[in-house]
Amino acid sequence: MASFEQYNLKKELLQSLKNINFDEPTEVQQKTIPIAMNGRDVIVRSKTGTGKTGAFLVPIIQMLEHGGAVSALIVVPTRELAIQVSHVAHSLLGGTKASVALVYGGASINVQIDALRRNPAIVIGTPGRLIDLMERKELRLSKAKFLVLDEADLMLDLGFMDDVEFIISRMPREKQVMLFSATMPAKILGLSKKYMRNADFIEVGSNDELTVDTISHSYTVSSRAHKIETMLNYIAENNLTKSIIFSATKRNADLLYNVLVDQGFRVALIHGNIRQSQREKNLQDFRKNAQFLVATNVAARGLDIGGISDIINFDIPEEPYIYVHRVGRSARMGADGKAFSIVTPEEIRHIHNIEDSVNIKIEKVQLKGGDPETRRSDPADLRVSSGKDRVRGYAKRNNRTGNSRNSRERHHGYRNRDHSRMQAY
Ligand code: AMP
Repeated sequence: MASFEQYNLKKELLQSLKNINFDEPTEVQQKTIPIAMNGRDVIVRSKTGTGKTGAFLVPIIQMLEHGGAVSALIVVPTRELAIQVSHVAHSLLGGTKASVALVYGGASINVQIDALRRNPAIVIGTPGRLIDLMERKELRLSKAKFLVLDEADLMLDLGFMDDVEFIISRMPREKQVMLFSATMPAKILGLSKKYMRNADFIEVGSNDELTVDTISHSYTVSSRAHKIETMLNYIAENNLTKSIIFSATKRNADLLYNVLVDQGFRVALIHGNIRQSQREKNLQDFRKNAQFLVATNVAARGLDIGGISDIINFDIPEEPYIYVHRVGRSARMGADGKAFSIVTPEEIRHIHNIEDSVNIKIEKVQLKGGDPETRRSDPADLRVSSGKDRVRGYAKRNNRTGNSRNSRERHHGYRNRDHSRMQAY
C-alpha cells in the first residue's frame, strides 16, 4: 500500500496530511509527487476529483523555503477553485510560518494587497486579478520557484491564455512548472512546449474513460417549450438528494432558480453575475442545506462538494469535455452518481457526439409523466427559447427576484478582466 511516509516528507506536513484524513496518496498523487520532488516539470492529465490539488501542494510545501518572497504561484481559472485550493493549502501548511495569499476578481483588491504585503510564500489567484496586482507592483514574482497552472483547459476555454502567457513572461526563467488539465488540446501542449523544460507527462486514467466510472448517464427528449416541465417531471419521478442543475446561461439559471423555489425546494444559485461574497454564501448553503444548486459552467470545474447524487443538464453542452466536467461534480472519490440530460430533438446529435468522444453509453429514458408536448398546458407559462435565450412566460408570471437579481443590481457596472471573461457563464 502506498503511503505518504515513503516520500520522506517533513514531520509537520505528514501530520497535516493525517489531520485532513489523507491517509494514502491517490493515483495522481502517487504519480506526481516523486517526480515533482525531483524538481522536474510535469504535465498531468487527470480527470476531476482525483486529488490533484494534493499532487501539486504536497511537493511545493515540502520544497518551500520561506525567505520573505513569493515562492509559489498557483494560477486557477475560477474564484471558487482558488478558494478551494487555498483551503487545502492552509490545512497542509498547518502550524508552519509560511502563509498563503488568495487573490481573485470580484473582491476587494485592498484586502488582497494587504495579504500580499504580509509576504506570503504561496499566492493562489485567477489570471486577471494576478495581472492587476503585478501591474500595481504589489505582486512580485522575481524570486518565484514554482508555477502551477491548474485546470489549464478551462483557462484556455475562458480566454485566459494570453493572460497566463503574460504572467509566465514576468516570472524567472528558472522555475519548476506543473500543469494540470483534464484534457490536452493542442494549444495547451503548445504552451507547455514553449514554457516547460523536458516535462514529464503523467496520465491518470485512460483517454477514453475520462468520466468517472460509477456514473450512470441518461437523457430524455423534450421540446424547448416544455423543458422546465420535463425537468420537474424528472425531479418528481426520481429520488434526488443533493443535485446540481446546469444551465447554459445566467438567464436560464435565474429562471430555474425561481421555478424551483416556487415549487418549495431549497435551492442555491451560482453564476458569473452573482457577487462573489453571495456566491460563497450560496455555495455554503448548498453544502449545508439546499437540495439543489442551479449553476452555469463556472461551477462545472473543480468544485469539491461532497454527497452529490445527481447532475441534471437542463441544457446539454455541445463540447463533450464540458459534459465530463459537469458530471464529474457527482461521484467524487468513487461514490455513485447519476447524470440526466434534457435535449431537444435537434440536440440529440450532441448526445451521440458525447457518447462517441467519451466512450460512454447515455441511455434514452421516457419519463412516466410522459411527453409534455402531448398533454395540455399553457406553453406561454413554461417557455425557454434558444439563441439569446429569452425567457418568457414564467418570468412574466413570477414577481420573485431571488438572490441573483438583487445581487446583480448591487453589482451592476462592475467589470474586471476575470469578470468580463466570465460574462457568458
Ligand atoms: P481534488 O481533485 O484535489 O479536488 O480532490 C478531490 C477530493 O479528494 C477532495 O475532497 C479531497 O479532499 C480528496 N482527497 C484528495 N487527496 C486525498 C487523499 N490522499 N486521501 C483522501 N482524500 C483525498
